[in-house]
Amino acid sequence: MAERQGTGTESGSLRFAIIGAGMSGILSAIKLHEAGLDDYTIYEKAERLGGTWRENTYPGISCDVPSHLYSYSFEPNADWTHVYAPGGEIQAYFEGVARKHGVEKRIRFGDEITRCAFTGGRWQLETQSGHRDVVDFVIAATGVLHHPSLPEIEGLDRFEGALFHSARWDHGVPLDGRRVGIVGTGSTAVQIVSALVDRVSKLELFQRTAQWIMPGMNPAYGEQELAEFRRDPQRMRTLHSDLSRLFAESFSNAVVDASSPGMKLIEDTCRANLENNVKDPVLREKLRPSYRAACKRLIFSPDFYEAIQKPNAELVTDGIVRVEPRGVRTRDGRLHELDVLVLATGFRADRFMRPIDVIGRNGVRLEDVWRKRPIAYMSISIPGFPNLFMLNGPNGPVGNFSLIEVAELQFAYIAQLIDRVRAGKCREISATEAATTRFDDERSEAAKSTIWTTGCRSWYLDDRGIPASWPWSFDRFRELMAAPRLDAYELVG
Ligand code: NAP
Repeated sequence: MAERQGTGTESGSLRFAIIGAGMSGILSAIKLHEAGLDDYTIYEKAERLGGTWRENTYPGISCDVPSHLYSYSFEPNADWTHVYAPGGEIQAYFEGVARKHGVEKRIRFGDEITRCAFTGGRWQLETQSGHRDVVDFVIAATGVLHHPSLPEIEGLDRFEGALFHSARWDHGVPLDGRRVGIVGTGSTAVQIVSALVDRVSKLELFQRTAQWIMPGMNPAYGEQELAEFRRDPQRMRTLHSDLSRLFAESFSNAVVDASSPGMKLIEDTCRANLENNVKDPVLREKLRPSYRAACKRLIFSPDFYEAIQKPNAELVTDGIVRVEPRGVRTRDGRLHELDVLVLATGFRADRFMRPIDVIGRNGVRLEDVWRKRPIAYMSISIPGFPNLFMLNGPNGPVGNFSLIEVAELQFAYIAQLIDRVRAGKCREISATEAATTRFDDERSEAAKSTIWTTGCRSWYLDDRGIPASWPWSFDRFRELMAAPRLDAYELVG
């Protein structure tokens, strides 16, 4: 992004609203400040920053992207204790970075934006408390998986024990020595199972669909390695770029080509993990998915199979009929008596900025534009919604790359769009309908050869069964993010 000096308008007066103080919102604030664009407020609905890492505090939470890759490229962290950091450490990292860059004091906490309307060439914002703001640009950094999906299971409200969604963990509920049930077998449930099995008297995992598990160790960094990271920050930068390349080659590029050798390696590894590490043939078959590995979001776990084979653990595959006051009734007629029931049932992945009432040019409502499904050019810009840009927006690489790298590349792209306005080349900028439709058609076509369309149900799929994700390689993403194609944009004024 250009420096403030030398631009063609009274650019110093450009005002920004950043929605969300998670990883992408903090990044946006730092980058705006670096560019001399300091007139911004971050609106955060909660009382604390951190986004996903603030909301998800379940036992065993960690990130399955290596910590030295799941860090801002400009803020390496010598103190990561493990190759895959636990959630609390990641939360502390974001808090530390925000503090260091003076971002915290720019956050308006606990006041959710309810309405954004584009009138008179600017965005008029309203919050729940009635606060108003008028800005030139909105950066929507709202995250993807932040609206818990609650299952429609009869009787949930009649359960007499403790019941909560995994992203609303009730830390006041005792777990030690108790009977705990977990609904779901996604990345979240798997981490909870491994963390809880040795603490509870009985752990029952209610599986609707089996999942492939990618093995992997999570070693702690030794004192010597930590000392080297502290002494030589360049080592961490090199590690970041090495991990980025490795992640792209071994995973990101494999999953977008269902017939690639990389995909075969992933499948063989998952199959061998199941064959070699689950002893009881009956349990092994219950745990064997009927679809290809990585069709659903691939799960990484060093110890799930070990945990589910412990004597106090049970994999329940008979469907849930209803929840009763004392527990869960399954199709075989059995009542599974429980003290605690955790719903690790995922999120509504199509929400993004919603439920904010976003109103673009000519009174067009985002809710209407996105009624069938969310769509955006390059996952960043929506036709008719000028000067509003999204980080980790719809159809982006949510499941295949490190979301921090994604957000950094996206912000650098958005910064170039902002620069057009800042330099006085136009006042309003948004993707054209034609470019957005073309992009989405190409994306949908390319998605057909990804692993995500090979026959499973997952949160990647939209209402048509088309993966709502980036179906190309990481290199392609990097190339496309390097510079916006201006012919894809409508520049007004
Ligand atoms: P998820 O992957 O969407 O899994 C939800 C689980 O709940 C599925 O097993 C689903 O079964 C089950 N379920 C939903 N409704 C149900 C019902 N009515 N009855 C029975 N089972 C039901 O959710 P998640 O595990 O929270 O993970 C969401 C995403 O968050 C992940 O895919 C990943 O991208 C991210 N995540 C990342 C990490 C990390 O380490 N980076 C950790 C946790 C989560 P079906 O499979 O049959 O639909």
